[in-house]
Amino acid sequence: MPPTTGEKALRGRVQELVEKNTVVVFSKSYCPYCIQVKDLFTSLGCEYVALELDQCDDGSNIQDILHEMTGQKTVPNVFVNKTHVGGADKTLQAHKNGTLQKLLDNTVAYDYDLIVIGGGSGGLACSKEAAALGKKVMVLDYVVPTPLGASWGLGGTCVNVGCIPKKLMHQAALLGQSLKDSRKFGWEYDEQVQHNWDTMRENIQSYIGSLNWGYRVSLRDKNVRYENSYGEFVEPHKIKATNRRGKESFFTAEKFVVATGERPRYLDIPGDKEFCITSDDLFSLSHCPGKTLVVGASYVALECAGFLAGIGLDVTVMVRSIFLRGFDQEMAERAGAYMETHGVKFIKKFVPTSIEQLEPGTPGRLKVVAKSTEGDAVIEEEYNTVLVAVGRDSCTRNIGLEKIGVKINERNGKIPVTDEEQTNVPYVYAIGDILDGKLELTPVAIQAGRLLARRLYAGSTVKCDYINVPTTVFTPMEYGCCGYPEEKAIDLFGEESLEVYHTLFWPLEWTVPGRDNNTCFAKIICNKLDNERVIGFHVLGPNAGEITQGFAAAMKCGLTKETLNETIGIHPTCAEAFTTMDVTKSSGGDISQKGC
Ligand code: FAD
Ligand code: NAP
Repeated sequence: MPPTTGEKALRGRVQELVEKNTVVVFSKSYCPYCIQVKDLFTSLGCEYVALELDQCDDGSNIQDILHEMTGQKTVPNVFVNKTHVGGADKTLQAHKNGTLQKLLDNTVAYDYDLIVIGGGSGGLACSKEAAALGKKVMVLDYVVPTPLGASWGLGGTCVNVGCIPKKLMHQAALLGQSLKDSRKFGWEYDEQVQHNWDTMRENIQSYIGSLNWGYRVSLRDKNVRYENSYGEFVEPHKIKATNRRGKESFFTAEKFVVATGERPRYLDIPGDKEFCITSDDLFSLSHCPGKTLVVGASYVALECAGFLAGIGLDVTVMVRSIFLRGFDQEMAERAGAYMETHGVKFIKKFVPTSIEQLEPGTPGRLKVVAKSTEGDAVIEEEYNTVLVAVGRDSCTRNIGLEKIGVKINERNGKIPVTDEEQTNVPYVYAIGDILDGKLELTPVAIQAGRLLARRLYAGSTVKCDYINVPTTVFTPMEYGCCGYPEEKAIDLFGEESLEVYHTLFWPLEWTVPGRDNNTCFAKIICNKLDNERVIGFHVLGPNAGEITQGFAAAMKCGLTKETLNETIGIHPTCAEAFTTMDVTKSSGGDISQKGC
């Protein structure tokens, strides 16, 4: 039957809708699949026209016409740039495999393929990789100065106020110990040995300056546009970049990576922001901190306390509960005990309640009042410097994520992502320290950034493996680990399924100076139900990071106790302890060492 005039008119209306609009969704207002598709276009920042067939008089006729035109009777029925995409499944699939974006791109011209907010470990790795794969990339990096005014160059936390200056100051402390040991090895020197803070700071800062410069050059070489501006989302696919002088510019991109990292948290007590420093201030501090109170007992607190004591300062650590929460507690206790026997004082189960300045200066004098976490006891003491190291807050609350609908975990400010680092808004990805439930480590951020760029732009499917990531705490006695802490392994596998091998060891280099026997410690946790596979590796001793790295690779290959037994050690080293361990914890056997 030939179409009636009414049908012709209606068909004309449908065609006009499809031809005149970039995105048309033929929909029914109550249909959850239609809502899903409309939400997708909203999250992509695409304006769309939705014709709700259940709300128009001729809705069922339109549905018939669509059936004739497309062979599809159901809703949603989606058209993008005059092309029929299909229903919900096909639209979502097209989004996932990029064809939807290609259809949309016929009309939308973005300034960049990718904008990365944050030029730290993760952001730089991701932006350089994406540019190397031929994409047009911009990276924004901006450091908000600390309350005391410290600021730094390109490269993020690790380079400027994290791993790099921390490890170099740790080295300064280790050299102090080596100087003492050297006399026993025959070195003779008359001059008084003392440490000069200014020389150390200047040399370390000048090395950091060279790294900052190197990053700028490598961005330029790789054709990544770098803006020293603060980025925040203002609308879908669009950010505002504000530079140091307050000048605002706007840029659009097809995709975004958020890599804004974290900044130190304060105590929120009277005097903390005015008079205390954090790790963001410490490494460039214009003067030697003098008698120092470190508040906190995790990585940052213990590492900083360790090197400050190592260069000869009077250092006290105020511990709220336990050392190194989340780490194997036997190892954490041993690392803390070593610090205690090497000059660091600990005030346990106390928290500061106020900081008062008694005298300004470089350093000045501060009065700290603290209260017990277990009773009413209150103590007060004077220090030159108070270093607050009580954790870090994600930089996610002031970057306009709410304007484009990116969800954060309101409790901790972190961003939940899929195993492909995609946020709930499909064109926005996140990497590094701001990820919810992931590790806050430089190599993790770098690996995630690089692999993300390869998946986005080189067809790779390789995801970042967050399991069995090795790490080292650079306390005076370094603590390296990979895999489970003993407590966690017991929780997950049950004590009866595990065999723990352990031993104390004495580095040969420490025997002649005659120091610290029976303090270095090695431990592996093996799963008896899985061929004694090593599921936890822990070492406390010199160069623990260097030792742990190799064993982490072995664990990735499925390291078992038998493989360790069959591996011939390198003598005389500390790491050889792992090839000769034969005392199990359950046996209660003697693990003390009489010689190396
Ligand atoms: P970051 O490196 O923090 O980079 C984020 C960047 O984004 C920063 O430059 C920031 O200023 C910038 N930014 C933030 N918001 C905006 C915005 N809106 N616009 C523009 N730019 C913005 N890890 C290790 O693996 N080993 C160690 O030994 C180690 N030691 C550490 C010692 C200390 C004292 C600290 C604090 C951390 C240490 N870490 C260590 C952790 C490591 O530094 C971080 O895991 C790593 O830097 C995270 O990288 P990221 O890219 O996520 O963020
Ligand atoms: P963190 O691991 O979050 O630890 C915070 C510490 O501060 C804990 O000891 C906590 O005690 C204490 N604390 C919190 N609030 C307090 C309060 N109000 N008063 C007193 N103490 C308080 O933080 P972090 O040490 O800053 O480390 C952040 C991340 O940086 C780490 O997760 C790590 O991945 C990374 N990092 C890595 C390295 C390395 O690789 N070597 C070095 C430094 C940092 P409780 O245990 O009682 O909560």
